[in-house]
Amino acid sequence: MVKLNGIAASKGVAIGKLHFFNNVQRKVKLELSESPEQELERFESARLRALKTLDDLHSQAMEQVGPEDSMIFGAQQALLNDRDYINSVEDLISREHYVAEYAVQRTGERLAEMISRLDNAYLKERSSDMVDVSNRMVRQLNGELAKDLSDIQGPIILAAEDLLPSETIQMDPKKVQAFVTSAGSRTSHASILSRTMGIPAVVGLQEQLSALQEGALVVVDGFQGVVIQDPDEATLREYERKQQAFLDYRRQLNRLKGAESRTLDGKKVVLCCNINYPSEVRLVLENDGEGIGLFRSEMLCLERDGFPSEEEQFQAYREVLERMSGRRVVIRTMDLGADKKVSYLRLPPEQNPAMGCRGIRLSLQYPEYFKQQLRALMRASVYGKLAVIFPMVSTLEEVREAKKLWREVERELYTEGLRVERPIELGAMIETPAAALISDMLAREVDFFSIGTNDLTQYVMAADRNNSRIDSALNDPCHPAVLRLVRITAENARARGIWCGVCGESASDDRLTETFLRMGISELSVAPASILELRKRIRSIDLSVPEAQRTAECL
Ligand code: PEP
Ligand code: MG
Repeated sequence: MVKLNGIAASKGVAIGKLHFFNNVQRKVKLELSESPEQELERFESARLRALKTLDDLHSQAMEQVGPEDSMIFGAQQALLNDRDYINSVEDLISREHYVAEYAVQRTGERLAEMISRLDNAYLKERSSDMVDVSNRMVRQLNGELAKDLSDIQGPIILAAEDLLPSETIQMDPKKVQAFVTSAGSRTSHASILSRTMGIPAVVGLQEQLSALQEGALVVVDGFQGVVIQDPDEATLREYERKQQAFLDYRRQLNRLKGAESRTLDGKKVVLCCNINYPSEVRLVLENDGEGIGLFRSEMLCLERDGFPSEEEQFQAYREVLERMSGRRVVIRTMDLGADKKVSYLRLPPEQNPAMGCRGIRLSLQYPEYFKQQLRALMRASVYGKLAVIFPMVSTLEEVREAKKLWREVERELYTEGLRVERPIELGAMIETPAAALISDMLAREVDFFSIGTNDLTQYVMAADRNNSRIDSALNDPCHPAVLRLVRITAENARARGIWCGVCGESASDDRLTETFLRMGISELSVAPASILELRKRIRSIDLSVPEAQRTAECL
């Protein structure tokens, strides 16, 4: 029996025969060409063919995993169309007389290396896209066919050095029971896709992978990040039980679709979803979300060349409202700035962007864009039950100013003869200590609060939420300092008779569910995949029983 420890990338247990996927790309030899013109032509025609293949992969991914995850292939097309990329390859061919394969490989390596040195964990991972694109180009030039995962005769457990997005997307979950890789992290594309596709996965095994043998019986534990080869009888039985328990648990959760989110003593909780793009409504409906507690509208601005027009925004909001058929949809006005920058706004660099011009601060500095969004929201309001929330509030004046612009837009639309649904609830996100501490005053200005515990925690604890070197004990929403502010906010909301929800990641943290409900939080908004698990948790809570000691003591 051999036991390996890696990174748990996607939940689940699988037991099966191991199959190695040999996708290691061989290095291209340095060769010179007699005819650079011919090489330039070869490069251009390979590039066009690669773009076409990526189009096909994009359509395949749209069907299997939906638009967000398929954006990977759009991003790869953008790399292939990037002027710097094309110029670099063409220069190497015309000036150095390299053959196209070598020029492509060298450019790909240089750019992948540059991306991997970026000081941002998410972007760093994108260097695998450059490698994917570069390998595809070399294959196109060689006339080699892509290694194909779609004709695997499963069921197997797949092992590979690394898996590129284009390879992962070809996996059929019925044939590939799980995969294990030497490279990768939790945020690498293969990991993200494995979670969306529901394939258990352990990544980052590094050199331990070489201990695995083709055809061996292996157990993959996607909860703990463990891989066991040739398990002994007792281990095998234990994992068979775990696998069965997980399948039963999934089935049990599915039975909660349509059930009420109500505690044992009868308190109803509104269980909603956070979404980033309209296409995620499918996941909300599939998982039986009762509404949308947070639609991060700023996502509509990312990965594009210019600000989305009023019409584009209107269509996006309308789509979400219509598909939610009368269930409440809270759309947050754009929370741009900090880690969500868009180059086309040409914002001046900031020393301390997380504390800089973001959220409502930025919207109020660009009233023309803000009013455009408010127009789109109001026009869409007739298609469902809309509520609008302002992000990163820290003063009363910000909310008053935002409401003033809201009324101005309302009057404009009225003059134009356009119908606006009334009333539309207006809310404030409680994400700064200031907002929590003046929540009694803010409660007089708005119809509801939603507590963004991700930012609230970072600001209360002075602990950057994106810095992996910060100790997790500091970035902890269970810290009493954070919970005290949640309690203050919930109390002030209740005193004024407005509702108060939580939409940060902590809303799905089962250590906090009971605490939040006891504080008077009436709505929890979480990722669609967490809905049923959270409903199960809520249904097991009895608020009539005296509160568990621990949290009560620290608050
Ligand atoms: C939050 O800060 O908790 C929140 C929900 O907003 P975001 O994660 O988008 O900053
Ligand atoms: Mg936030």
